[in-house]
Amino acid sequence: MLAIRELLAADQAQLAQALGLASCDARLEAQLLMAAALDVNRAWLLAHDDEMLAAPVAARYTGWLKRRLTGEPIAYIFGEKEFYGLMFKVSPAVLIPRPETELLVELALARIPVDRLCRVLDLGTGSGIIAITLAKLRPLAELVAVDVSAAALELAQTNARNLKANNILFIESDWFSALDSVEKFDVIVSNPPYIRADDPHLARGDLRFEPTRALAAGASGRDALTRIITQAIPHLASTGTLLLEHGYDQGEYARAALRQTGFHESVTYQDLASVERVTIGVSDKFTF
Ligand code: GLN
Repeated sequence: MLAIRELLAADQAQLAQALGLASCDARLEAQLLMAAALDVNRAWLLAHDDEMLAAPVAARYTGWLKRRLTGEPIAYIFGEKEFYGLMFKVSPAVLIPRPETELLVELALARIPVDRLCRVLDLGTGSGIIAITLAKLRPLAELVAVDVSAAALELAQTNARNLKANNILFIESDWFSALDSVEKFDVIVSNPPYIRADDPHLARGDLRFEPTRALAAGASGRDALTRIITQAIPHLASTGTLLLEHGYDQGEYARAALRQTGFHESVTYQDLASVERVTIGVSDKFTF
């Protein structure tokens, strides 16, 4: 029988080889799997790495390690992922939350007042991370979250229930199609699919396990962005804001498409990696 330390060293090497990970990433992953199997944090793990694993813990750990060695993302193995300080359930029916989407949430929060009603729409909500985070931090806001996938909506509703976000209405809808334009929103937010259908990244790493429909958007990667931009104005209040996450090379396109469609202003923000990531359109003379 091997102590935790020896197991981690051997499995780190296996993970690095099977997944082409840098050794520090492979080490972190082995530790994460082990800490979760033991139900302890990494600090505990490192302080007790001379101990042996009890049989049920070893079985759990080995099962997860095998899945990870086939490439399955850790978030799907654990069935959860943290976003903006909250823990969300995830499944292969939805994208795994990404840190760059926190920029979209921050920019939306800056446009949703704390002290009065604001109507907010989240298009393609997936696991619900955007709508639920906004709903929790802006309890006076009224949110509508839509997704074309019934499985995603069910998961988003479970997340909303678990996190006690009660100010969200969930609707099954292909973008705006099930919404009545009589109902106006002050803020519309979306992290739509925006990868080109032939992008080789779709077949690599975590992405190959995620729903293609949530990642890829036609030959140009712009299909969903275009659809949202061209259909948004009738659903926006007179001073309404549309916030869109997009790919590193789509900022210019998004700004131009917003202006052509009748938005008064459009501006793009960079994420922490200095990549153009979120473009905002305002349907009035609001200045940034
Ligand atoms: N940013 C994600 C990626 O490149 C894609 C997310 C999306 O398509 N909405 O992996």
